[in-house]
Amino acid sequence: MKVLKFGGTSVGSAARIKEVAKLVTERGKNIIVLSAMSGTTNTLVEISDYLHKRNVDGAKEIVNQLENKYRNVIDELFASDEYREAARKEIKAIFNYIRSLSTDKFSYFEEREILAQGELISTNLLNLYLHEQSVDSVLLSALEFMRTDNNGEPDSSYIRSRLHAQLEKHSDAAIYLTQGYICRNAFGEVDNLQRGGSDYTASLIGAAIGAEEIEIWTDIDGMHNNDPRYVEGTSPVSELHFDEAAELAYFGAKILHPTCVLPAKLNNIPVRLLNTMQPDAKGTLIYNCPSSHTIKAVAAKDNITAIKIKSGRMLLAYGFLRKVFEIFESYQTSIDMITTSEVGVSVTIDNTRNLHLILDDLKKFGTVTVDHDMAIICVVGDLEWHNTGFETKTLKAMDTIPVRMISYGGSNYNISMLVRQSDKINALNALQKALFND
Ligand code: ASP
Ligand code: MG
Repeated sequence: MKVLKFGGTSVGSAARIKEVAKLVTERGKNIIVLSAMSGTTNTLVEISDYLHKRNVDGAKEIVNQLENKYRNVIDELFASDEYREAARKEIKAIFNYIRSLSTDKFSYFEEREILAQGELISTNLLNLYLHEQSVDSVLLSALEFMRTDNNGEPDSSYIRSRLHAQLEKHSDAAIYLTQGYICRNAFGEVDNLQRGGSDYTASLIGAAIGAEEIEIWTDIDGMHNNDPRYVEGTSPVSELHFDEAAELAYFGAKILHPTCVLPAKLNNIPVRLLNTMQPDAKGTLIYNCPSSHTIKAVAAKDNITAIKIKSGRMLLAYGFLRKVFEIFESYQTSIDMITTSEVGVSVTIDNTRNLHLILDDLKKFGTVTVDHDMAIICVVGDLEWHNTGFETKTLKAMDTIPVRMISYGGSNYNISMLVRQSDKINALNALQKALFND
Protein backbone atom coordinates (compact mmCIF):
# COMPACT_ATOMS: atom_id res chain seq x y z
CA MET A 1 0.00 0.00 0.00
CA LYS A 2 1.15 3.57 -0.69
CA VAL A 3 0.38 6.88 0.97
CA LEU A 4 -0.71 9.63 -1.45
CA LYS A 5 -0.83 13.17 -0.11
CA PHE A 6 -2.54 16.01 -1.98
CA GLY A 7 -1.77 19.61 -1.07
CA GLY A 8 -4.14 22.56 -0.89
CA THR A 9 -3.93 23.59 -4.54
CA SER A 10 -4.46 19.98 -5.68
CA VAL A 11 -7.88 20.08 -3.99
CA GLY A 12 -8.32 23.83 -4.46
CA SER A 13 -11.60 23.79 -6.42
CA ALA A 14 -14.45 21.44 -7.31
CA ALA A 15 -12.72 20.67 -10.61
CA ARG A 16 -9.46 19.84 -8.85
CA ILE A 17 -11.24 17.58 -6.34
CA LYS A 18 -12.75 15.67 -9.27
CA GLU A 19 -9.28 15.24 -10.77
CA VAL A 20 -7.92 13.93 -7.47
CA ALA A 21 -10.86 11.50 -7.20
CA LYS A 22 -10.06 10.14 -10.65
CA LEU A 23 -6.39 9.84 -9.90
CA VAL A 24 -6.81 8.03 -6.59
CA THR A 25 -9.49 5.69 -7.96
CA GLU A 26 -7.18 4.60 -10.78
CA ARG A 27 -4.44 3.86 -8.29
CA GLY A 28 -6.46 1.50 -6.11
CA LYS A 29 -6.24 0.72 -2.42
CA ASN A 30 -3.99 3.29 -0.79
CA ILE A 31 -4.16 5.80 2.04
CA ILE A 32 -4.99 9.28 0.77
CA VAL A 33 -3.98 12.26 2.92
CA LEU A 34 -5.50 15.66 2.15
CA SER A 35 -4.68 19.23 3.06
CA ALA A 36 -7.40 21.82 3.41
CA MET A 37 -8.48 23.53 0.16
CA SER A 38 -5.94 26.24 -0.61
CA GLY A 39 -6.50 29.44 1.34
CA THR A 40 -8.75 27.80 3.93
CA THR A 41 -6.20 27.40 6.74
CA ASN A 42 -5.11 31.01 6.24
CA THR A 43 -8.74 32.08 6.54
CA LEU A 44 -9.15 30.01 9.70
CA VAL A 45 -6.05 31.70 11.12
CA GLU A 46 -7.61 35.07 10.28
CA ILE A 47 -10.86 34.10 12.00
CA SER A 48 -8.90 33.09 15.10
CA ASP A 49 -7.01 36.34 14.97
CA TYR A 50 -10.26 38.34 15.14
CA LEU A 51 -11.44 36.18 18.02
CA HIS A 52 -8.21 36.64 19.96
CA LYS A 53 -8.85 40.37 19.54
CA ARG A 54 -12.39 39.83 20.84
CA ASN A 55 -13.94 40.98 17.58
CA VAL A 56 -16.61 38.27 17.36
CA ASP A 57 -18.61 40.08 14.67
CA GLY A 58 -15.53 40.47 12.48
CA ALA A 59 -14.82 36.76 12.84
CA LYS A 60 -18.37 35.73 12.02
CA GLU A 61 -18.34 37.77 8.85
CA ILE A 62 -15.36 35.80 7.58
CA VAL A 63 -16.91 32.53 8.74
CA ASN A 64 -19.96 33.34 6.59
CA GLN A 65 -17.83 34.19 3.58
CA LEU A 66 -15.93 30.93 3.92
CA GLU A 67 -19.17 28.98 4.25
CA ASN A 68 -20.49 30.58 1.07
CA LYS A 69 -17.36 29.57 -0.75
CA TYR A 70 -17.94 25.97 0.26
CA ARG A 71 -21.61 26.13 -0.78
CA ASN A 72 -20.43 27.01 -4.28
CA VAL A 73 -17.89 24.20 -4.26
CA ILE A 74 -20.60 21.74 -3.26
CA ASP A 75 -22.98 22.96 -5.97
CA GLU A 76 -20.32 22.41 -8.58
CA LEU A 77 -18.92 19.15 -7.23
CA PHE A 78 -21.94 16.89 -6.90
CA ALA A 79 -24.20 15.66 -9.67
CA SER A 80 -27.11 14.35 -7.60
CA ASP A 81 -29.38 16.15 -5.14
CA GLU A 82 -28.92 13.34 -2.67
CA TYR A 83 -25.15 13.83 -2.36
CA ARG A 84 -25.38 17.60 -2.62
CA GLU A 85 -27.77 17.58 0.33
CA ALA A 86 -25.57 15.22 2.33
CA ALA A 87 -22.53 17.47 1.72
CA ARG A 88 -24.47 20.61 2.65
CA LYS A 89 -25.47 18.98 5.90
CA GLU A 90 -21.90 17.98 6.78
CA ILE A 91 -20.52 21.42 5.96
CA LYS A 92 -23.30 23.21 7.81
CA ALA A 93 -22.54 21.20 10.93
CA ILE A 94 -18.86 22.11 10.66
CA PHE A 95 -19.58 25.82 10.21
CA ASN A 96 -22.07 25.81 13.07
CA TYR A 97 -19.36 24.27 15.20
CA ILE A 98 -16.93 27.04 14.16
CA ARG A 99 -19.62 29.60 15.12
CA SER A 100 -20.12 27.93 18.49
CA LEU A 101 -16.41 28.40 19.18
CA SER A 102 -16.53 32.03 18.07
CA THR A 103 -17.20 33.68 21.40
CA ASP A 104 -15.32 36.11 23.57
CA LYS A 105 -14.06 33.20 25.67
CA PHE A 106 -11.79 32.29 22.80
CA SER A 107 -8.39 30.80 23.70
CA TYR A 108 -5.65 28.76 22.04
CA PHE A 109 -7.68 25.66 22.77
CA GLU A 110 -10.55 26.86 20.56
CA GLU A 111 -8.09 28.16 17.99
CA ARG A 112 -6.66 24.69 17.41
CA GLU A 113 -10.18 23.32 17.01
CA ILE A 114 -10.89 25.96 14.38
CA LEU A 115 -7.64 25.34 12.51
CA ALA A 116 -8.54 21.64 12.24
CA GLN A 117 -11.75 22.26 10.32
CA GLY A 118 -10.17 22.84 6.89
CA GLU A 119 -8.89 19.28 6.59
CA LEU A 120 -12.13 17.89 8.04
CA ILE A 121 -14.05 19.69 5.28
CA SER A 122 -11.82 18.66 2.37
CA THR A 123 -11.75 14.98 3.36
CA ASN A 124 -15.52 14.93 3.89
CA LEU A 125 -16.10 16.41 0.44
CA LEU A 126 -13.79 14.00 -1.35
CA ASN A 127 -15.21 11.04 0.55
CA LEU A 128 -18.78 11.95 -0.39
CA TYR A 129 -17.78 12.59 -3.98
CA LEU A 130 -16.11 9.17 -4.21
CA HIS A 131 -19.27 7.59 -2.81
CA GLU A 132 -21.30 9.38 -5.43
CA GLN A 133 -18.96 7.81 -7.99
CA SER A 134 -19.68 4.40 -6.38
CA VAL A 135 -16.18 4.07 -4.92
CA ASP A 136 -16.18 2.44 -1.47
CA SER A 137 -13.81 4.85 0.22
CA VAL A 138 -13.59 4.96 4.00
CA LEU A 139 -12.77 8.17 5.85
CA LEU A 140 -10.49 7.56 8.83
CA SER A 141 -10.36 10.39 11.34
CA ALA A 142 -6.77 11.45 11.97
CA LEU A 143 -7.95 12.49 15.43
CA GLU A 144 -8.37 8.78 16.22
CA PHE A 145 -4.78 7.79 15.52
CA MET A 146 -2.46 10.79 14.99
CA ARG A 147 -1.09 11.90 18.35
CA THR A 148 1.84 13.83 19.77
CA ASP A 149 3.52 13.10 23.10
CA ASN A 150 4.51 15.32 26.02
CA ASN A 151 7.33 16.82 23.99
CA GLY A 152 5.06 17.63 21.08
CA GLU A 153 6.71 14.86 19.05
CA PRO A 154 4.67 12.27 17.15
CA ASP A 155 3.93 9.23 19.32
CA SER A 156 4.99 6.58 16.78
CA SER A 157 3.92 3.44 18.63
CA TYR A 158 0.48 4.89 19.43
CA ILE A 159 0.05 6.01 15.81
CA ARG A 160 1.09 2.60 14.51
CA SER A 161 -1.21 0.54 16.72
CA ARG A 162 -4.24 2.83 16.41
CA LEU A 163 -3.88 3.14 12.65
CA HIS A 164 -3.51 -0.61 12.17
CA ALA A 165 -6.65 -1.16 14.22
CA GLN A 166 -8.56 1.29 12.01
CA LEU A 167 -7.29 -0.30 8.80
CA GLU A 168 -8.26 -3.76 10.00
CA LYS A 169 -11.70 -2.59 11.05
CA HIS A 170 -12.30 -1.35 7.51
CA SER A 171 -10.31 -3.99 5.67
CA ASP A 172 -12.71 -4.16 2.73
CA ALA A 173 -12.41 -0.44 1.91
CA ALA A 174 -11.51 0.38 -1.69
CA ILE A 175 -9.54 3.47 -0.63
CA TYR A 176 -8.74 5.06 2.73
CA LEU A 177 -8.91 8.81 3.22
CA THR A 178 -7.63 10.87 6.11
CA GLN A 179 -6.75 14.42 7.13
CA GLY A 180 -3.24 15.80 6.99
CA TYR A 181 -1.96 18.29 9.57
CA ILE A 182 -4.42 17.59 12.41
CA CYS A 183 -3.79 15.44 15.46
CA ARG A 184 -4.41 15.21 19.17
CA ASN A 185 -1.79 16.20 21.72
CA ALA A 186 -0.73 14.34 24.86
CA PHE A 187 -3.79 15.75 26.69
CA GLY A 188 -6.15 14.42 24.05
CA GLU A 189 -6.92 17.94 22.79
CA VAL A 190 -7.25 18.71 19.10
CA ASP A 191 -3.92 20.03 17.87
CA ASN A 192 -1.87 20.16 14.66
CA LEU A 193 1.56 19.35 13.28
CA GLN A 194 2.27 23.02 12.46
CA ARG A 195 1.57 24.86 9.22
CA GLY A 196 2.38 22.82 6.15
CA GLY A 197 2.23 19.70 8.33
CA SER A 198 0.23 17.52 5.94
CA ASP A 199 3.45 16.26 4.37
CA TYR A 200 4.53 15.22 7.85
CA THR A 201 1.25 13.34 8.34
CA ALA A 202 1.85 11.44 5.10
CA SER A 203 5.36 10.52 6.15
CA LEU A 204 4.27 9.43 9.65
CA ILE A 205 1.53 7.24 8.16
CA GLY A 206 3.97 5.82 5.62
CA ALA A 207 6.34 4.93 8.46
CA ALA A 208 3.51 3.46 10.58
CA ILE A 209 2.34 1.06 7.88
CA GLY A 210 5.72 0.40 6.26
CA ALA A 211 4.34 1.83 3.02
CA GLU A 212 5.75 0.84 -0.33
CA GLU A 213 6.08 4.55 -1.18
CA ILE A 214 4.93 7.99 -0.05
CA GLU A 215 3.70 10.19 -2.88
CA ILE A 216 3.47 13.93 -2.35
CA TRP A 217 1.23 15.42 -5.05
CA THR A 218 1.53 19.17 -5.64
CA ASP A 219 1.30 21.54 -8.58
CA ILE A 220 4.91 21.40 -9.75
CA ASP A 221 6.71 18.54 -11.44
CA GLY A 222 9.13 17.67 -8.64
CA MET A 223 11.94 19.44 -6.84
CA HIS A 224 13.71 21.76 -9.25
CA ASN A 225 17.45 22.28 -9.50
CA ASN A 226 17.01 25.97 -8.68
CA ASP A 227 14.25 28.34 -7.63
CA PRO A 228 11.88 28.73 -10.64
CA ARG A 229 10.58 32.02 -9.21
CA TYR A 230 13.96 33.69 -9.75
CA VAL A 231 15.79 31.60 -12.31
CA GLU A 232 14.75 30.71 -15.85
CA GLY A 233 15.30 27.28 -17.30
CA THR A 234 15.31 25.27 -14.07
CA SER A 235 14.53 21.57 -14.38
CA PRO A 236 13.24 18.85 -12.06
CA VAL A 237 15.84 16.72 -10.29
CA SER A 238 14.99 13.09 -10.94
CA GLU A 239 16.66 11.52 -7.89
CA LEU A 240 17.69 12.81 -4.51
CA HIS A 241 19.13 11.17 -1.45
CA PHE A 242 17.07 11.66 1.73
CA ASP A 243 19.77 13.92 3.15
CA GLU A 244 19.93 16.03 -0.01
CA ALA A 245 16.14 16.41 0.11
CA ALA A 246 16.28 17.40 3.78
CA GLU A 247 18.80 20.16 3.02
CA LEU A 248 16.73 21.45 0.10
CA ALA A 249 13.43 21.31 1.96
CA TYR A 250 14.91 23.26 4.84
CA PHE A 251 16.67 25.78 2.61
CA GLY A 252 13.65 27.06 0.87
CA ALA A 253 12.45 24.48 -1.66
CA LYS A 254 8.82 25.00 -0.67
CA ILE A 255 7.54 21.85 -2.33
CA LEU A 256 8.28 19.52 0.58
CA HIS A 257 7.99 20.26 4.28
CA PRO A 258 11.35 19.62 6.00
CA THR A 259 9.81 17.46 8.77
CA CYS A 260 8.54 15.01 6.18
CA VAL A 261 11.95 13.57 5.34
CA LEU A 262 12.98 12.01 8.65
CA PRO A 263 10.23 9.38 9.23
CA ALA A 264 10.59 8.25 5.62
CA LYS A 265 14.37 8.11 5.87
CA LEU A 266 14.40 6.19 9.16
CA ASN A 267 12.03 3.60 7.74
CA ASN A 268 13.66 3.64 4.31
CA ILE A 269 10.45 4.47 2.47
CA PRO A 270 10.90 6.25 -0.87
CA VAL A 271 9.16 9.61 -1.26
CA ARG A 272 8.03 10.64 -4.73
CA LEU A 273 7.10 14.23 -5.57
CA LEU A 274 4.47 14.34 -8.29
CA ASN A 275 2.36 16.90 -10.14
CA THR A 276 -1.45 16.67 -10.21
CA MET A 277 -1.53 18.81 -13.36
CA GLN A 278 0.82 16.40 -15.14
CA PRO A 279 0.28 13.02 -13.49
CA ASP A 280 2.53 11.15 -15.91
CA ALA A 281 5.59 13.33 -15.39
CA LYS A 282 8.39 11.51 -13.57
CA GLY A 283 8.74 13.98 -10.72
CA THR A 284 11.46 13.54 -8.11
CA LEU A 285 12.22 10.31 -6.29
CA ILE A 286 13.78 10.68 -2.85
CA TYR A 287 15.42 7.55 -1.45
CA ASN A 288 18.73 6.11 -0.30
CA CYS A 289 20.07 6.65 -3.78
CA PRO A 290 23.64 5.65 -4.65
CA SER A 291 26.43 8.24 -4.85
CA SER A 292 26.11 10.34 -7.96
CA HIS A 293 29.22 12.52 -7.50
CA THR A 294 27.21 15.45 -8.83
CA ILE A 295 25.75 18.74 -7.70
CA LYS A 296 21.99 18.39 -7.86
CA ALA A 297 20.34 21.65 -6.87
CA VAL A 298 20.59 25.14 -5.41
CA ALA A 299 18.16 26.71 -2.94
CA ALA A 300 18.02 29.87 -0.85
CA LYS A 301 16.61 30.94 2.46
CA ASP A 302 15.79 34.58 3.22
CA ASN A 303 15.55 36.69 6.36
CA ILE A 304 18.77 35.48 7.87
CA THR A 305 20.70 37.42 10.49
CA ALA A 306 24.43 36.87 10.90
CA ILE A 307 26.16 37.47 14.22
CA LYS A 308 29.93 37.63 14.66
CA ILE A 309 31.59 37.30 18.06
CA LYS A 310 35.27 38.20 18.05
CA SER A 311 37.39 37.64 21.06
CA GLY A 312 41.07 37.51 21.90
CA ARG A 313 40.03 35.13 24.64
CA MET A 314 38.97 32.56 22.11
CA LEU A 315 42.59 31.99 21.04
CA LEU A 316 43.75 28.62 22.38
CA ALA A 317 40.90 28.66 24.92
CA TYR A 318 38.52 25.84 25.47
CA GLY A 319 34.89 26.26 26.44
CA PHE A 320 34.41 29.49 24.46
CA LEU A 321 32.09 28.00 21.85
CA ARG A 322 30.08 26.21 24.50
CA LYS A 323 29.42 29.52 26.28
CA VAL A 324 28.37 31.15 23.02
CA PHE A 325 26.04 28.30 22.07
CA GLU A 326 24.49 28.21 25.53
CA ILE A 327 23.33 31.77 25.08
CA PHE A 328 21.41 30.82 21.94
CA GLU A 329 20.03 27.77 23.69
CA SER A 330 18.82 29.78 26.66
CA TYR A 331 16.78 31.97 24.29
CA GLN A 332 15.47 28.95 22.36
CA THR A 333 17.03 30.21 19.16
CA SER A 334 18.46 27.66 16.80
CA ILE A 335 21.59 28.31 14.80
CA ASP A 336 21.62 27.45 11.07
CA MET A 337 25.14 28.10 9.88
CA ILE A 338 28.46 28.39 11.71
CA THR A 339 31.94 29.42 10.62
CA THR A 340 34.91 29.77 12.93
CA SER A 341 38.42 31.12 13.02
CA GLU A 342 40.94 31.14 15.85
CA VAL A 343 39.73 34.54 17.00
CA GLY A 344 36.07 34.57 16.25
CA VAL A 345 32.93 32.77 15.33
CA SER A 346 30.04 33.72 13.05
CA VAL A 347 26.62 32.15 13.29
CA THR A 348 23.31 32.72 11.54
CA ILE A 349 19.79 32.64 12.93
CA ASP A 350 16.39 33.08 11.33
CA ASN A 351 14.40 33.75 14.48
CA THR A 352 15.20 37.22 15.78
CA ARG A 353 12.55 37.37 18.49
CA ASN A 354 15.17 37.42 21.25
CA LEU A 355 17.97 39.05 19.26
CA HIS A 356 18.47 41.96 21.65
CA LEU A 357 18.76 39.71 24.67
CA ILE A 358 21.13 37.39 22.82
CA LEU A 359 23.34 40.31 21.77
CA ASP A 360 23.44 41.68 25.31
CA ASP A 361 24.64 38.34 26.64
CA LEU A 362 27.14 37.76 23.83
CA LYS A 363 28.80 41.11 24.54
CA LYS A 364 30.14 39.60 27.76
CA PHE A 365 32.37 37.37 25.63
CA GLY A 366 33.64 39.57 22.84
CA THR A 367 32.98 42.21 20.23
CA VAL A 368 29.69 41.55 18.52
CA THR A 369 28.62 42.63 15.03
CA VAL A 370 25.33 41.94 13.30
CA ASP A 371 24.36 41.79 9.61
CA HIS A 372 20.64 41.84 8.83
CA ASP A 373 18.71 40.93 5.67
CA MET A 374 21.00 38.15 4.57
CA ALA A 375 20.24 34.98 2.61
CA ILE A 376 21.74 31.52 2.81
CA ILE A 377 22.48 30.02 -0.58
CA CYS A 378 22.74 26.29 -0.36
CA VAL A 379 24.33 24.08 -3.01
CA VAL A 380 23.22 20.48 -2.60
CA GLY A 381 24.47 17.21 -4.02
CA ASP A 382 26.77 14.27 -3.44
CA LEU A 383 29.61 16.42 -2.12
CA GLU A 384 31.65 13.90 -0.16
CA TRP A 385 35.06 15.46 0.41
CA HIS A 386 37.04 13.06 -1.77
CA ASN A 387 35.07 14.28 -4.78
CA THR A 388 37.06 17.14 -6.22
CA GLY A 389 36.22 20.28 -8.11
CA PHE A 390 32.74 21.14 -6.89
CA GLU A 391 33.97 23.71 -4.33
CA THR A 392 35.96 25.56 -6.99
CA LYS A 393 33.05 25.56 -9.41
CA THR A 394 30.67 26.84 -6.77
CA LEU A 395 32.89 29.63 -5.52
CA LYS A 396 33.96 30.64 -9.00
CA ALA A 397 30.32 31.31 -9.84
CA MET A 398 30.25 33.77 -6.95
CA ASP A 399 33.32 35.74 -8.03
CA THR A 400 31.56 39.11 -8.26
CA ILE A 401 29.16 38.62 -5.36
CA PRO A 402 30.22 39.53 -1.81
CA VAL A 403 30.09 36.41 0.35
CA ARG A 404 29.84 36.89 4.12
CA MET A 405 30.24 33.23 5.24
CA ILE A 406 31.06 29.86 3.65
CA SER A 407 30.34 26.54 5.29
CA TYR A 408 31.28 23.10 3.98
CA GLY A 409 31.98 19.77 5.62
CA GLY A 410 29.06 19.70 8.08
CA SER A 411 27.48 17.02 5.97
CA ASN A 412 28.41 15.28 2.72
CA TYR A 413 25.57 17.04 1.01
CA ASN A 414 25.93 20.78 1.04
CA ILE A 415 27.95 23.95 0.70
CA SER A 416 26.27 26.96 2.24
CA MET A 417 27.13 30.54 1.52
CA LEU A 418 25.75 33.64 3.16
CA VAL A 419 25.14 36.68 0.94
CA ARG A 420 23.09 39.86 1.14
CA GLN A 421 19.45 39.18 0.42
CA SER A 422 19.67 41.81 -2.31
CA ASP A 423 22.33 39.66 -4.05
CA LYS A 424 20.33 36.45 -3.81
CA ILE A 425 18.80 36.46 -7.28
CA ASN A 426 22.16 37.24 -8.88
CA ALA A 427 23.78 34.46 -6.90
CA LEU A 428 21.11 31.90 -7.86
CA ASN A 429 21.42 32.82 -11.53
CA ALA A 430 25.22 32.76 -11.49
CA LEU A 431 25.15 29.32 -9.87
CA GLN A 432 22.57 28.04 -12.36
CA LYS A 433 24.81 29.05 -15.21
CA ALA A 434 28.00 27.66 -13.71
CA LEU A 435 26.64 24.42 -12.28
CA PHE A 436 23.91 23.30 -14.66
CA ASN A 437 24.06 25.20 -17.94
CA ASP A 438 27.75 25.16 -18.86
N1 ASP B 1 -3.65 23.12 5.75
C1 ASP B 1 -2.45 23.23 6.52
C2 ASP B 1 -1.72 24.50 6.13
O1 ASP B 1 -2.15 25.22 5.26
C3 ASP B 1 -1.57 22.05 6.41
C4 ASP B 1 -1.00 21.76 5.04
O2 ASP B 1 -1.53 22.23 4.04
O3 ASP B 1 -0.01 21.03 4.96
O4 ASP B 1 -0.72 24.79 6.73
MG1 MG C 1 2.13 22.14 1.70
